Formats: sequence, structure tokens, C-alpha cells
Amino acid sequence: MKKKIISGALAVLVSFMLIGCGANANTGIQNKTEDKLKIAVSIYPLKEFAEKIAGDKADVICLVPDNMEPHDYEPKTKDFQELTKSNAFIYNGLGMEEWVGQVNEAIKNTNVIVVDSSTGIETRQEGDAVDPHAWLSLKNAEIQSSNIKDTLVKLDEKNKDYYEENYNKFKEELESLYSEYKPKFDTLSKKNFITGHAAFGYLCRDFGLTQKSVENLFAEGEPTPKQLKDLVSFCKDNNIKTVFSESLASPKVSETLAKEVQADVVPILTLESKEDDKNYIEAMRYNLDEIYKCLSKE
Ligand SMILES: [Zn+2]
Repeated sequence: MKKKIISGALAVLVSFMLIGCGANANTGIQNKTEDKLKIAVSIYPLKEFAEKIAGDKADVICLVPDNMEPHDYEPKTKDFQELTKSNAFIYNGLGMEEWVGQVNEAIKNTNVIVVDSSTGIETRQEGDAVDPHAWLSLKNAEIQSSNIKDTLVKLDEKNKDYYEENYNKFKEELESLYSEYKPKFDTLSKKNFITGHAAFGYLCRDFGLTQKSVENLFAEGEPTPKQLKDLVSFCKDNNIKTVFSESLASPKVSETLAKEVQADVVPILTLESKEDDKNYIEAMRYNLDEIYKCLSKE
């Protein structure tokens, strides 16, 4: 009787609670997933990196939901419950997850390995703050993926070759995209572009470019009239004909600015959340291509 009225979502919750209570009477489906690793990541790009390398050997869950601006995210009780069932929790680091202390507290009596994926990245500052947007650099993505690969190997030594091979394939994709665009950007005299929030600092560092943004590093606050005026002058001085707009950070301000300087509004992908059907490489190619088009316009 009861089962009939439990909806799909509730059923998942209930079965989850049963597992939590240690009721192990469940069927084969569960045993099957049991020999897979369970990896929890904080933000969307890490999910892609982890899935690329783990292949069919792990289930990867992402804490920040799709279409949510991760700078606004706070973990819920159910997220902590998910975490305690994982083999590893991989986060971006560099201050992206201000709540990571709470995770450490929640899992302190468990075997969950906590991994800062930014270990080994040369950090950059934006004003007084460390820039957390590591994954928007192809170079950093390689380091983050390497840290993820090391974690998988540590958890599942017998599949080391498999993880190494997947990682090397992904690394080649990253490097080939970088090598394709580096010489293209090097030949351009224009180096400045305008975006939604200051997310592209590492990408700029890789390619010798400069970003100006409508919002700050943490996607907080719309610009004051004075800042907007400065952005308008910046666009005019630099002959900027494209204003990049992010779906999760003040697209309206970007539109206002574009109107003011008669520029086109073009979407750019911060990959902070799953926004459309592009994978990481496709989204980065799209970004680089659009930035290149914007900078090569006379
Ligand atoms: Zn951001």
C-alpha cells in the first residue's frame, strides 16, 4: 500500500534512508554499483574531468545543482549525507568553496578522501582576492585532471593503467586545443574583452589577454553608475564591438552596456554550472573562438 503512494523522488529518498540505516537487504542492482567508486565533486567542470578519467569505473555526483551560480551555493544536509557515502570528495579550491570547512567537519569520522584539485596550480590574484576560476584555463584543467587521476589511482590501484590512459587522452585534447589557439591570439593586436564577471583571468593569462568585467570575481553586485561609465569609456577606447554575457551573472547589465556602445551581446560560458549540451572541450572551443572573433574585429 505504502509503496504505491510513494512518488519517484520519495522512493529514492526512502531507499537512500534505508541504505543509511544499514539495511542491506537490497537486490543485485545495488551490489553492482557497490564495486564502482563513488566520487563527489563540488562544481560542474570537475564532474566532467572526473567522468573523463574514471570512465565506467565510478559514479560521479556534483553538489552544486545545474543552472545554479556556484558562488551562491551552500551545502544542504542531504549533500553532507551524499558526501559521507562517497570514496572521495574533490573540490576546486582557491576559495571557490567557502563552505569546505563544513565538509571536513561532516566527514571527519569517515574514510572519505578530500582532494583540493587546485594543488600545483600557480594562483593569480584579482585585487586582494585569489581568483578561483582555475578550470577556465586549459593548462589548469590539465593539473586538476591530473590530481583527479591520482586520486582514482589511490582508491583503485588495480585500474591504474585505465585511469592513466584516459587521463592522457584528455590531456592531449586539452593541449591540442591550446596549441591551436595560442598562435592565433599571438598574432592579434587587440587583447581586451568585456565579460560578465571576472571569471576568465586564468584563460587570459594562458593567451596573453585582458578581461574587464561587469561584475567582480565572485559575481557580486552590479556596477555603480560610475563603474558603468568607466566600462563604456573602456569599450570606446578599445573599439570593443562585442560584450560577452553570462546567463548566470547579470546578463541585463551586459545588454545595457552593449546598447550604450553599440556592441553585440554574445554568450560566453563560464562552465560554473551545466548550462547547455556542450562538453568541456566544446565549451572551451566555443569561448576561445568567440573571444578570437571579438578581438579580430576591426
Ligand atoms: Zn565565478
